[in-house]
Amino acid sequence: MAERETKISARNVDVFYGEKHAIRNLSIDIPDRAVSAFIGPSGCGKSTFLRAINRMNDTIASARVTGGIAVDGEDIYDSAIDVVQLRARVGMVFQKPNPFPKSIFENVAYGPRIHGLARNKTDLEEIVVSSLKKAGLFEEVKDRLDHPGTGLSGGQQQRLCIARAIAVNPEVILMDEPCSALDPIATARIEELIDELRQNYCIVIVTHSMQQAARVSQLTAFFHLGTLVEYGDTDEMFTAPQEKRTQDYITGRFG
Ligand code: ADP
Ligand code: MG
Repeated sequence: MAERETKISARNVDVFYGEKHAIRNLSIDIPDRAVSAFIGPSGCGKSTFLRAINRMNDTIASARVTGGIAVDGEDIYDSAIDVVQLRARVGMVFQKPNPFPKSIFENVAYGPRIHGLARNKTDLEEIVVSSLKKAGLFEEVKDRLDHPGTGLSGGQQQRLCIARAIAVNPEVILMDEPCSALDPIATARIEELIDELRQNYCIVIVTHSMQQAARVSQLTAFFHLGTLVEYGDTDEMFTAPQEKRTQDYITGRFG
């Protein structure tokens, strides 16, 4: 695999929810312009670690993160970091599509507006259209941008959420089981989109589906009981994993 620049670098990260130790001494270097998949049995800490990458755990009162996480070498837990700005740089797409109860246009325009990314109405329209295009949704919605985002199908809503993330110029897109509420056709459409987006973004996707990890990712990280067991080339992970625990999981011996 070609050398890629590191985008996200985590060192000795621990995450606690009160007494619960959810992530243990995790270190990883995640490259830019590639899709990394996080796999592992339910409850092993995939979502917890994903949320640590854009400080989404800050919103959970009992959560405490120690260790270091840097994006482009910049410590994101530094007190000088503007968390709103960080979450624009490191966008997130959730399991259940969660468009705002507003029009399709407004769903995408909201972020650029609050971040002051458009100088005028024309600028804003351009950002909305290009974001919808990048999310592969524009053709389907161009005649009804003023209709509610919540009226779209599940798969379209998820692409709308991806357009909303893209609209604020992210560098990283975190996706937590983005297809788990979607049918196979909508899932295939999102997977194609992820494959296109990796040209321009660092993408991290949590998935409970090993098939999906194999289809969409170049790198796979296997989590077990709060630890990162191994992280490497997806093809190698599924054919010749380094660790017995990974082997057992991918061959269906547990999980
Ligand atoms: P995964 O995404 O791999 O299924 P999670 O990151 O959601 O795993 O959870 C890891 C562990 O942390 C689990 O034991 C889970 O019960 C616990 N956990 C997750 N979220 C919270 C929370 N908000 N409060 C307390 N414990 C939590
Ligand atoms: Mg999860």
